[in-house]
Amino acid sequence: MRPDKLTDPVVFEGSTFLILSLQERLHRHKYWPHGARYDAESGEYVRTKSCYRLVRGGLGGVATIGREIKEVIVHHTGGSIVPVGPAGPMSVSAYCVTDPKPSKYVHDGKPDQRYGRSWPGICYHAWIPYAPETVEVLGQDDDLHPILVSKHIIYECWTSGWWIYNTAGRNAHCYGIGLQGSFSHRPGGEPGEPREPSVLQMELLATWWEEWAKPTLRLEDRDLYGHADYGKPTCPGITAYSWLRSVREMQADPPVELPPES
Ligand SMILES: [Zn+2]
Repeated sequence: MRPDKLTDPVVFEGSTFLILSLQERLHRHKYWPHGARYDAESGEYVRTKSCYRLVRGGLGGVATIGREIKEVIVHHTGGSIVPVGPAGPMSVSAYCVTDPKPSKYVHDGKPDQRYGRSWPGICYHAWIPYAPETVEVLGQDDDLHPILVSKHIIYECWTSGWWIYNTAGRNAHCYGIGLQGSFSHRPGGEPGEPREPSVLQMELLATWWEEWAKPTLRLEDRDLYGHADYGKPTCPGITAYSWLRSVREMQADPPVELPPES
């Protein structure tokens, strides 16, 4: 089923996409998974200044068996639409795990940004590329004859049991998915890189939600959120946010009111 050119394990096959796991090769913080240096003399893990940053409860980077997932939270990565393929999540994971250093850029006399986050690993459980790669896999037509079917690639960065950092205050029970790119939260946008997710990216998000997320995480449409619902208005941008709001708020038909008995 799996073409030779795929070197990462296929963990799920949907009607239009494959999920490939990058778990084994994404960057992790140097003290992952313990968040501390192992001291052989005392046999204990010692917290140091450069332990990965503790965020609200400090369980980041910990696999919590049977962790209850209450919601999916959609993000944009806030970065470039390149590189394509696994190099995208690889480069974001390198940034996330680096201990912060003041950048060389100075604003008002202070370094205006710090490179690196000191997190255990990448901040999304899954990643939908802006320009997803296509692979041909063996399928069947209606008469059960073998045919080649094109599928697009979504990346799994962590399995859902891992508590990671993507949304302040929600990380204990959320599953975070990132759309590669930096998208406008207002209609319009500026010149330069695309300010809207690609059509294919949005189609994959919708199909992923139906075919993978809802059944696997045991969620319903009302459990779909965006980072903008939790304090970051610019994430994931107006296109993805409008879509997820419409899914979440899709109501069943209102109950029919029966005429009063006469
Ligand atoms: Zn976000």
